[in-house]
Amino acid sequence: MTFVTRFAPSPTGPLHLGHAYSALLAHDMARDANGTFLLRIEDTDTSRARPAWETKIYDDLNWLGLTWAQPVLRQSEHLERYNSLLMQLAKDGLVYPCSCRRSDIRAALSAPQEGVTTPPVYPGTCRGRPMSSRKPGDALRLDMARAVARLDTPVTFEDNGPLHTGQHSVDADSLVKQTGDAVLGRKEIETVSYVLAAVIDDAVQEITHVIRGADLFDTTPLQVLLQRLLDLPTPTYHHHRLIRDDTGKRLAKRDDARAIAKYRADGATPEDIREMVGLASLFEQNPRE
Ligand code: GLU
Repeated sequence: MTFVTRFAPSPTGPLHLGHAYSALLAHDMARDANGTFLLRIEDTDTSRARPAWETKIYDDLNWLGLTWAQPVLRQSEHLERYNSLLMQLAKDGLVYPCSCRRSDIRAALSAPQEGVTTPPVYPGTCRGRPMSSRKPGDALRLDMARAVARLDTPVTFEDNGPLHTGQHSVDADSLVKQTGDAVLGRKEIETVSYVLAAVIDDAVQEITHVIRGADLFDTTPLQVLLQRLLDLPTPTYHHHRLIRDDTGKRLAKRDDARAIAKYRADGATPEDIREMVGLASLFEQNPRE
């Protein structure tokens, strides 16, 4: 069976132990399956992404001993592709412009993180506005009720990670009530949200297995719905455990103390990092956590 997976960091800060775990796990699983490990730089958030962070990502991953198939996909080079699929959804009547509060929209645009309060489901204030009324600074939202009405079967996906093992089925009602009218197009014209760009590129890169942190598990039903609407394949998912700090909190970009660069500067070896995240040697079989 073909096995293609990817590591998809956003260059908005230093890679930390959590990223190391995700990248090493995806790399090792691809190696064990005689598959392909790809790298994707998710740099569409121009307010936060920095080329210097991207350079450090390559450097840290190389130091960890990882290699990946070329080319690296840099999302900032493909904005037209995302925008044209977003416009396809708009033509289908599934997207509307929204000028609601900036803070709600900003929260909805970043990849969600455990421990960060999820924004309330959008109340639908702008729902029904025609695309022709889009003004500069308006975001674009998915009309979730109309979107789910297009499907004749529930959204389903398989997770083979240890935390959510099995087949998941999400009905239309939960998508409307729990996800709601998600932001797909950002306020900056021609820039799309993480959820949509990632779905499109998983298809472009022919990803068969998405291996990523459990903090993204709740985003998966929306991403599978987008695959269905855009006629894209649904990969198998593997949401892995999160690496936590001593107080049990999930590591975040601002946890510089756990940055791979910090451990390197302190003299740690790549093997030490593997041990710290519970993935022993490159050359040993490891139990998958
Ligand atoms: N770019 C996302 C992040 O850094 C990961 C997206 C994914 O793996 O689907 O959190």
